[in-house]
Amino acid sequence: MTINGKVVAITGASSGIGAATARHLGSLGAAVVVGARRTDRLDHLVTEIGQAGGSAVATRVDVTSPDDLKSLVALAVERFGRLDVLVGNAGISRIGPMADLDIEGWSAMVDVNVKGILHGIAAALPVFARQGGGHLVTVVSTSGLKIVPTQAVYAGTKNAVRTLLEGLRQESTAGALRTTSISPGYIRTELIDNAADDPAVREQAQRNMADLGIDATAVARAIAFAIDQPEDVEIGDLTIRPTRQG
Ligand code: NDP
Repeated sequence: MTINGKVVAITGASSGIGAATARHLGSLGAAVVVGARRTDRLDHLVTEIGQAGGSAVATRVDVTSPDDLKSLVALAVERFGRLDVLVGNAGISRIGPMADLDIEGWSAMVDVNVKGILHGIAAALPVFARQGGGHLVTVVSTSGLKIVPTQAVYAGTKNAVRTLLEGLRQESTAGALRTTSISPGYIRTELIDNAADDPAVREQAQRNMADLGIDATAVARAIAFAIDQPEDVEIGDLTIRPTRQG
């Protein structure tokens, strides 16, 4: 089975990359199960996918809650009979020099970007084990590949996820679990809108995004490529960045 007919759950699907991925996979025949906190946006997305001939359901998910991830996975099984792919996409970014000691922002990034993925893994693995296979896709970042000032903690959370996935892969080579890390570069989304309190830092990030950012559909297509492979092929890492990004 390739994408058509697969059941794919996506966290952080209320905007940006997650929403674009849900639309794209829905258009390719996947049944999509979308989660995030802004349920009004999710409801709109589900309607949009349905009107385009796709199949989608939504539930409120805060990835800092292990129970919310369990509910997302349970909804997939209840409505579509199984879960083939979990896309761990929800994420936040707080940028600024480490000397600012933004302990609250650091903790929030660890909670959403790292623990949120662990909660997804904990929810999905038992279902994958029962089914005899499954696919974990995580959205990490080029920030983890080239560490730049003001993004060290964000990059650290993304590289933590890269490490978790590689560890899981090493532990699962005998089974049918596939893992994929997707590393986007500058993608025009809402990510940086609340990324810094300091207007100068925020405005610089917004200028970079306006100058370089590409559409979220580029990442959606990469995720589709990773999912659309025969069972014996695993796409491990994919980087999708603007051609002009340094
Ligand atoms: P957006 O801000 O548009 O989307 C982020 C999504 O994460 C939203 O749907 C938001 O939904 C969700 N989210 C945030 N916190 C939580 C939470 N606690 N529980 C559940 N969902 C949450 O940005 P992007 O689309 O850009 O971000 C998607 C992913 O891509 C992130 O992991 C980000 O780090 C990564 N990325 C983005 C890049 C870019 O340039 N845009 C570059 C590299 C990586 P809600 O608020 O409704 O809960």
